[in-house]
Amino acid sequence: MKYTEGMLKEDALKGKTIVITGGGTGLGRSMGKYFLELGANLVITSRKLDVLKESAKELEEETGGKVLPLSCDVREYEQVEKVINDATDHFGKIDGFLNNAAGNFISPTERLSHRAFDTVVDIVLRGTYNCTLAMGKKWIDDENPGVFLNIVTTYAWTGTGYTVPSACAKAGVLALTRSLAVEWAKYNIRTNAIAPGPFPTKGAWERLLPGDLAEKFSMKNKVPVGRHGEHQELANLAAYLMSDYSAYVNGDVITIDGGEWLKGAGQFNMLEEVTPEMWDMLEQMRKK
Ligand code: NAP
Repeated sequence: MKYTEGMLKEDALKGKTIVITGGGTGLGRSMGKYFLELGANLVITSRKLDVLKESAKELEEETGGKVLPLSCDVREYEQVEKVINDATDHFGKIDGFLNNAAGNFISPTERLSHRAFDTVVDIVLRGTYNCTLAMGKKWIDDENPGVFLNIVTTYAWTGTGYTVPSACAKAGVLALTRSLAVEWAKYNIRTNAIAPGPFPTKGAWERLLPGDLAEKFSMKNKVPVGRHGEHQELANLAAYLMSDYSAYVNGDVITIDGGEWLKGAGQFNMLEEVTPEMWDMLEQMRKK
């Protein structure tokens, strides 16, 4: 299948250094692996250094590229600045910053403490603006700009029940993306976002649909194309947006969800349940 293959030209990211928050696991790791295959140097960062070190070792073995694992809680601005300085000392410069780290869990909103609400908003929104501010200031001061790519979700614009802190925070990240795409374009900094639909990952998926819930509410059934996303499909899009091939794409959010959110939005999409026999009957009734 073509969609499980890498799409960009060889060396499309050669000479670039890309930082990925939450880069040791899940989608961050998969995107990072493809960046390495395309010739980039990688900096992966999150709270758990042991996980990062293990992933860095595996990624280097799998791709032959260079990976620097650095621990950082994106909620802490000083830690973010340190990552940027250490990564610059190590690789000379940073060309791309992928805001991918997130926290999320399901709950009726009235059961959440204000602290639980804070935790998710702090990781997703504060974490993203901490990284964006620290990186952006450096790119502007050094006159050596780069590209931001932010991972949001489609409920950044639809909203959603049961993960309300995440919905609020992702909406904020989308506003940040569109705002800075205009304000910082004069510095040659591009800012885009990707809104993925369901892509199976261990951490996030086990937290969001634990136990029997995964069976009961199969995400696949919500997707018009009838399947989950393949990590390579997301990696292809992320690599394109990080590369110079997308130099004219700025301020956009690109949805990659097999049509999932539109299926929920279209007023008559529930008619998918109507069988061909029922349609025959309805047609006959109309003719009378
Ligand atoms: P994941 O494997 O759980 O990744 C989340 C990452 O964020 C982990 O590596 C985690 O590492 C890191 N992280 C959490 N809190 C952090 C903090 N305070 N500071 C720094 N790093 C932190 O989940 P995923 O599914 O790959 O999700 C990746 C991104 O895709 C997220 O933005 C998510 O919202 C988005 N997304 C995913 C899907 C999907 O279907 N999978 C759909 C739509 C959007 P540590 O625990 O080591 O800190």
